[in-house]
Amino acid sequence: MDDLQFGTRNKRGDFKPNGRLEFAPFWEWPLSIGKIARWFVGYLWPWNAFHMAVTALYWAFVIPAVGSFETLTWGPALALWAINAAGIFLMYGSIEFFYYVKRKQSTRFKYNVKFPAEQPSDVFWFKSQNIDNFMRSFFISIPLWTLVEIIFLHAFAVGWVPSVSFAEHPYYLAAIILISPAIHEVHFFCIHRLIHVPVLYKWIHSVHHNSVNPSPWSSLSMHPVEGFLYHAVALWHLVIPSNPFLALFQLHLAGYGALNGHIGFDKLEITEDTPLDSHAYAHYLHHKYFEVNYGGDGIIPLDRWFGSWHDGTAEGEALMDARFQKKKAKMNARKDGASV
Ligand SMILES: [Zn+2]
Ligand SMILES: [Zn+2]
Repeated sequence: MDDLQFGTRNKRGDFKPNGRLEFAPFWEWPLSIGKIARWFVGYLWPWNAFHMAVTALYWAFVIPAVGSFETLTWGPALALWAINAAGIFLMYGSIEFFYYVKRKQSTRFKYNVKFPAEQPSDVFWFKSQNIDNFMRSFFISIPLWTLVEIIFLHAFAVGWVPSVSFAEHPYYLAAIILISPAIHEVHFFCIHRLIHVPVLYKWIHSVHHNSVNPSPWSSLSMHPVEGFLYHAVALWHLVIPSNPFLALFQLHLAGYGALNGHIGFDKLEITEDTPLDSHAYAHYLHHKYFEVNYGGDGIIPLDRWFGSWHDGTAEGEALMDARFQKKKAKMNARKDGASV
């Protein structure tokens, strides 16, 4: 597939998609029903439908009766960790294997023409982004994901919070499922913006940002504090009236959904003529420029409201540069003031 029909390449060979990153169309006035309908299909298919299917499979075959979490024992916790790890190994690992190891579409649609394996660096364990990111995911973040899972299953099992049933409140629960990706975005924006505060950034979030050129294993490569806060989004289902199935879906949007921002390709060529949108560009720009696009996939325009939006165009780049210049001037003025 000719990726230059969809974007341009700079001298280095980095790919930049055409067009502008957009927020969900219900933030535009006048409302366009056609646009909203098209957006809604993309909202459900394929990624959120995939997370729902995985959640249903977990519910049917993996999660024992919630009542069994009334007492906490190591056995089920370790089994859940192993299943989460196996799921991530399968999902992230297959993208890694086909697109980064086998390189089945070479560098077509690849934002950064280099592959992490070609760029050893001292910031990583064993100087390898892949080994470092892999180990942090499986031995830090996925155990913390599992911890959050055990917390909410235990909370429902012992009755700290009531469980709302589908039989009694089907429309309410369907509405919560539909807004779960928005809950994820708001939670992620808030914790992410917080750990970009310089002192927290240095201590916590710099671990994730070591991967300037992210690949699938970078998705969950986090400091333990971030690893817990990130997955703790599922605990909102202990605050709003909900049930453990919805909490699990919310958890999967975080755990399995982290992949999207770190795929590194704008489209994955599933077959020669079937490209799959990765939804990765906004977060790729965050890894490239650090101080833009703290949010997720544009369901709620938080970055626009807080002045940190980069829409992927030359105009977005100019706005970002102007913000950086302003910030620099302010810091210099402060420094000059202090030295007088
Ligand atoms: Zn990231
Ligand atoms: Zn960040």
